[in-house]
Amino acid sequence: MKFVNKLALGGVFSATLITLGVTWVNGSAHSNDSDAFSKGDIESEISVVESPVYVGTIKNVADTEAFSAPIERTLTVRKGDTLGNMLARAGVAPGEAYRAIKALSQKFKPRDLRIGQKLDLVLGQANSGDSVGRHTLARLSVDPDIRNTVVVDKNPSGALVVRTHKRTILVDATRRGAVIQSSLYLSGQRAQTPAQILARLTHIFSFDVDFQRDVQRGDSFAVLYERLSGEDGEHLGYGDILIAEMTLSGKNIRLFKYQTKDGDTDFFTQKGESVRKALTLTPIDGARISSGYGRRRHPVLGYTKMHRGVDFAAPRGTPVYAGGRGVVEVAGRKGSYGRYIRIRHNSTYKTAYAHLKGFARGIRKGRRVRQGQVIGYVGTTGRSTGPHLHYEIHKNGRQINPRRLNLPSGRKLRGAELAKFQTVRARLERKYAAAPIRAQLASRPAGN
Ligand SMILES: [Zn+2]
Repeated sequence: MKFVNKLALGGVFSATLITLGVTWVNGSAHSNDSDAFSKGDIESEISVVESPVYVGTIKNVADTEAFSAPIERTLTVRKGDTLGNMLARAGVAPGEAYRAIKALSQKFKPRDLRIGQKLDLVLGQANSGDSVGRHTLARLSVDPDIRNTVVVDKNPSGALVVRTHKRTILVDATRRGAVIQSSLYLSGQRAQTPAQILARLTHIFSFDVDFQRDVQRGDSFAVLYERLSGEDGEHLGYGDILIAEMTLSGKNIRLFKYQTKDGDTDFFTQKGESVRKALTLTPIDGARISSGYGRRRHPVLGYTKMHRGVDFAAPRGTPVYAGGRGVVEVAGRKGSYGRYIRIRHNSTYKTAYAHLKGFARGIRKGRRVRQGQVIGYVGTTGRSTGPHLHYEIHKNGRQINPRRLNLPSGRKLRGAELAKFQTVRARLERKYAAAPIRAQLASRPAGN
């Protein structure tokens, strides 16, 4: 869009809007850095805008093409797409597509295209040979990441030139927080905290906090996160959470992002202790616990029965993470559990996930998984009243109440590493203090 607009000399052109259904199936794992810009597993509609542009202003379209209006198109990568089939679908003549892909490959490998990614094209009409009726390609551009744009241009002699534009990204730290009224999500959204940041916040605290029982009205959260924008102020997304804080029943936990010298990024307390544990209590982001562990009236069977797991209500398709590192022991249908995954973590612990809609790609028996890796998606298979995740923790072959789970605490930083952490932490604290929280949210309970 942006390139062509600069070339247009005025005149009003009609734009055709084509809406395509696109499904993102992004199995990206939940590491602290790499998922910063991932789209998650959501279904969305993407618009493709097609707008003819004034002809005489496009200098770099070969003369033979200058008599028909170049067309600008934005294509979105869908599941199963290759650059070749996308260009073919856009009507690009095969020879043109081949040359453009070859040129692009010098700076961007076409197999690195991700679902949801955009391709910008400027097309002309082919007037000769067996390509008549098809398009020539005046420009092809793609953003490998938010910092770079790779552009293939056809110069006046018809040769293709490829180059990379670097975009300047401005990073600023934004602080948000709120007293929790009904749920972390509602209060967070009222305080203009992006849903993505709230989801990551719950994930950071998922090792220690049971978001149903531990979070009460009057508790609060606060978060310092990076916001990314372009030079002209355009919003480009969010970077990392730098500080994550919760005050629960007057007890404050403030966690700091820190990358250790071996390259692991994790969240640490003021004392330099990691909160990460071998198993998480909440293997899903932003879900509400709809039924805890213990005796209850069974929603389907109607009589009182022991509920040997924890239910998280969440929309169908919400990603489910491996609660810990381990090996997939079962991934298949299992009676009233519906689609079911069980992971063996060690000789003592296993975790199980039931009523799934489906499994993440590659998840099958014998497969090794990392903690936080997406293993499946919330569904309502088996005996289930609605979309939810049923999560069990097994100790020595029996389901246990996750609240009784007493895992050793995570890694502690020591010596020089601890000293370095304290320097980083002091810097983050200063940033935090300098990023004032919105005024109407300042009434946080004492204890901070
Ligand atoms: Zn259940």
